[in-house]
Amino acid sequence: DGIFDRLRFTGGKLLAPPKVVNAVNSVSLSIAPGEVLALVGESGCGKSTVAKTIARIHAPTSGEIRIDGKEVSCLNQKELRPVRRELQMIFQDPYASLNPRQRIKDIVIEPLRAQSDRRMSSSDIDAEAIKLLARVGLNAEQANRYPHQFSGGQRQRIGIARALSVRPKLIIADEPVSALDVSIQAQILNLMMDLRDEFGLSYLFVSHDLSVVHHIADRVAVMYLGFMVETASRDQLFATPRHPYTQALLSAAPNVDKALRKPQAEITGEVPSALNLPSGCCFRTRCPLAFARCAVERPALLPQRGGGSVACHLHDTVPEAFPT
Ligand code: SF4
Ligand code: MG
Repeated sequence: DGIFDRLRFTGGKLLAPPKVVNAVNSVSLSIAPGEVLALVGESGCGKSTVAKTIARIHAPTSGEIRIDGKEVSCLNQKELRPVRRELQMIFQDPYASLNPRQRIKDIVIEPLRAQSDRRMSSSDIDAEAIKLLARVGLNAEQANRYPHQFSGGQRQRIGIARALSVRPKLIIADEPVSALDVSIQAQILNLMMDLRDEFGLSYLFVSHDLSVVHHIADRVAVMYLGFMVETASRDQLFATPRHPYTQALLSAAPNVDKALRKPQAEITGEVPSALNLPSGCCFRTRCPLAFARCAVERPALLPQRGGGSVACHLHDTVPEAFPT
């Protein structure tokens, strides 16, 4: 039924000389059409690696990625071409991904030109670029300017217009507003939500900022040290976080409304190195609720009665007739 009914994979190796770190250990995600799935966690938890692996900037070492039922993880670059049309990425720093010597109209049309089999005339390009730019709030006169002539928020609008040019089904957004002022953040998030409704987009939204996640997500997946530790609907996650790490994240978040914050477990200690993962539960070195079993057995991500899933020995009773 869903366009992204299965979008799952495991693995995704990150080269960090001199050792190869398995940055993402086991992740399973599915995103429904029109859904915003937020992937949250502290920096270095592997969320960007997940995003880049799904976008096939990194290849997964094992597992599968299915889009619209099609397995895409083993496709080569040529076979990936039609997939790239369905799936576009926007980045934290759009400036870094905008060619400084290209006019905005050429930048926004680039993915479309790469996808299209026919040559586009310059009047086609102009017309399409102006349409795309108008949709993100920029005018025709601005189409002839260069990236440095725009503010951070405008550059992110340009990045969004470029992603939209091929009419993707899924946009993977890696911290798309974290470099922007708070007032500009809201404008960009609202634009992204309008575009979701207009184009029927799904988003995989990578963020460390829980107030942004609360604003935008339908569902949330929490990652810690390359493991997915909890998934839940947005409302459930903020009202009743179940994994001790999620509880700690929420109580530590400075920007989340007071009403949403729970006086929960304080997070203490350093994040362990991904090169040297703790035995058992990856969170046990910082978990205030850790007990003997946590050091010897890695908790599996298990479906929960109230919906979603949790990887913690305190939540290891699987309901018998789990509704799928
Ligand atoms: Fe804490 Fe143990 Fe649960 Fe891990 S499994 S989160 S250490 S209680
Ligand atoms: Mg990142």
